[in-house]
Amino acid sequence: MDAVDVAQIELERAAERAAQARQQAAAQRAAVVSADECVECLNLIPSARQLAIPGVQTCVDCQSLIERGVL
Ligand SMILES: [Zn+2]
Repeated sequence: MDAVDVAQIELERAAERAAQARQQAAAQRAAVVSADECVECLNLIPSARQLAIPGVQTCVDCQSLIERGVL
């Protein structure tokens, strides 16, 4: 293996890391999009709650049930 091979492998690894970072960033963006409707009961989630809790997926009622281990 010569220096050109090593450089090529480093470039490929850097490209892989960049691709992984892009995927993670996309996943994080998706995670902070709040749901309009509760994923449990499909009631509308008030916009104030959506803004207060980035990525919120449940209404207040279902969230409290989840926190109590009921759902
Ligand atoms: Zn709900």
